[in-house]
Formats: sequence, C-alpha cells, structure tokens
Amino acid sequence: MDLRACIRDIPDYPKEGIVFFDITPLLQKPEAFQYTVDALAERFADCGASKIAAAEARGFLFGAPLAYKMGLGFVPVRKPGKLPYKTRQVSYDLEYGQDTLCMHEDAVNDGDKVLVIDDLLATGGTVGGMLNLITQGGGEVVGIGFVVELGFLDGPSKLNGLPHEYLLKL
Ligand code: IMP
Repeated sequence: MDLRACIRDIPDYPKEGIVFFDITPLLQKPEAFQYTVDALAERFADCGASKIAAAEARGFLFGAPLAYKMGLGFVPVRKPGKLPYKTRQVSYDLEYGQDTLCMHEDAVNDGDKVLVIDDLLATGGTVGGMLNLITQGGGEVVGIGFVVELGFLDGPSKLNGLPHEYLLKL
C-alpha cells in the first residue's frame, strides 16, 4: 500500500513556512484506512497491552479503531476542559509556548500496560506528554506507534528511550 500517495502536503499551514501533512485523503480511501489499522495491529500484536491511549483529535481516528480490532480498552487524552470527570494534567513545550493534555485520573492505573498511538510524530511534544500522563497513573508503556514519522525532526528524543513503530517516514 502506497501510504505516501494518501497524504496530502499543505504548504504554509497552520502558518507560513510549515508544511502540514494532511491524512484525511487516507481516511477517505477504505482500503488505505483498513491497511493502516491492520498494519498497526500486526506490529503490536504481541506487545501485551491492555489499553490504547491516543490524543485528540487525529490520534482518536487511528487509536479507537485499533483498540476495537485488537480487543483493547481505549483511553482518550484531551485538551483541558473536555473531559467530564477528575483529570491528571501535563504541560509540554511547543515550538513557541506550551500546551496541556489531560486524562481521566482513573483511566490508567497501577500495572496497566498501555499502547500509545498517534497519527504523526513531529517534535514529540504530544507523545512525550502522553507518556508522562501514563506513567503518573502507574501505567507501563508497552508500545508507541505512529502512522507517520517526520524524519527531519527530533521526535524520537522525547520517547524516554522507548522503541517505537511507524508505517511511513517523511
Ligand atoms: P508533535 O507534538 O510536535 O510531535 O506533533 C504531533 C501532534 O501534532 C500529533 O498529535 C498530530 O496530530 C499533530 N501534527 C503536527 N504536525 C502535523 C502534520 O503535519 N499533520 C498531521 N498532524 C500533525
């Protein structure tokens, strides 16, 4: 499956000088979407996870169907003010400024084995924040997977030395 052909490059989005890699064409092609979820399921078949955590919004698009396919629980990680129950929070650095992610405080507990999924690894700030949230809850990260990794950025340095998988490197 040529995943590269399913990703559209948008120059100067969200700001000048940045190329945004738009995964919505992939979602529109049923065979590419199925291939993506199936390939991630294959990579992590033996990781021993009991749940998948993914961050809004694009992480949900892959994390939730993967959880369904693998028969695992799903933990949504969201921006502040979106989750209704008590939450844990972490802040992480962006290129300019900071962002915050939240998880329900009972979503990950001692001994939980968690697979972390996101659509794309760029600077690694988002996934780094998720790893902190999971560790705070007493969970163990047993896998980290992306559909796309941007090879020209230093995202893997934010993974606390943990291995990760990706389907396409740009
Ligand atoms: P990071 O935190 O810099 O690694 O950025 C990754 C997060 O931002 C992921 O959750 C992505 O959904 C989003 N993101 C950043 N750049 C892109 C892009 O070019 N295409 C799609 N999502 C992106």
